[in-house]
Amino acid sequence: MTLHEDPITGDVRLVAPGRAARLGRSSSGCPFCPGHEDATPTETGRIAARAHVDAGASLDAGWSARSFPNLYPLTDPHEVLVPTPRHVTAWRDLTLPELEAGLELLLERRRALLAPDRYVHAFVNDGIQAGASLQHVHAQLVSVPAGTHAERLTRGVRMVDDHCALCDLMGAPTSPYLVERGRHLALVAHPLPRIAGALLVTPLTHASTIGMDVLAELAALLHRALQVAARDTAINLWIVADEAAQAHWYVELQPRTAYLAGVELALGLNVVGADPLAAAAHARERLAQPAQG
Ligand SMILES: [Zn+2]
Ligand SMILES: [Zn+2]
Repeated sequence: MTLHEDPITGDVRLVAPGRAARLGRSSSGCPFCPGHEDATPTETGRIAARAHVDAGASLDAGWSARSFPNLYPLTDPHEVLVPTPRHVTAWRDLTLPELEAGLELLLERRRALLAPDRYVHAFVNDGIQAGASLQHVHAQLVSVPAGTHAERLTRGVRMVDDHCALCDLMGAPTSPYLVERGRHLALVAHPLPRIAGALLVTPLTHASTIGMDVLAELAALLHRALQVAARDTAINLWIVADEAAQAHWYVELQPRTAYLAGVELALGLNVVGADPLAAAAHARERLAQPAQG
């Protein structure tokens, strides 16, 4: 695994030739299900089983969430995190306590992997179209050099010149992008996403550290956000937090409602196929319905 510059365009790419092997791995059961713990590398973290998390799952796994190094690392380190012992195949189907346990361990591992001059990217590929190679829900953490890669995610929210785009978005109590407002956080439509339908969960006021005191609220809003897209929509999700840059933290949820095609791949120009304000209205409508499908 190394970063290399494309000699033709000057763009930097992550080269990881061993990754192709992971698609051919054995199909003898799910390596993330209980009883197969020895099929994964040595555990780096776990949330012990909790009665309220496992109620109804009728599983005695001994754990609610666990993390371990990726067998096919993209970066050093590269960890995988399993948020539930149940063989759930879509993040939207996690119970709220499962999602909360998964997020708790994800934030804990993110913090543990932080190192000087590195940025830890915590993300979820949910569904084949979103890049998942194993069905059992999981999240991942990779570590990249600080700088360019993280700056892509925070350029407008770093409080440079007393200005932060997320503070602007949150400042208006009647923002048309607002989907749901919590005590400390809100669920909002992305004002100009890469692909139509992206949602953000972010604090109402500028904060660059994700405190454990907002964990329950973060889980609750993400659980809601995951119900917005139609069932079977692949989703990518990532956490953006850069304390060193004092960036306004956010979690972005990107439904894969369109393919990246010739314009996006070649020119790096993403085409947003729907009005972000309409996406906000759509999200409010979906969440107002009693049952989602
Ligand atoms: Zn499984
Ligand atoms: Zn801000």
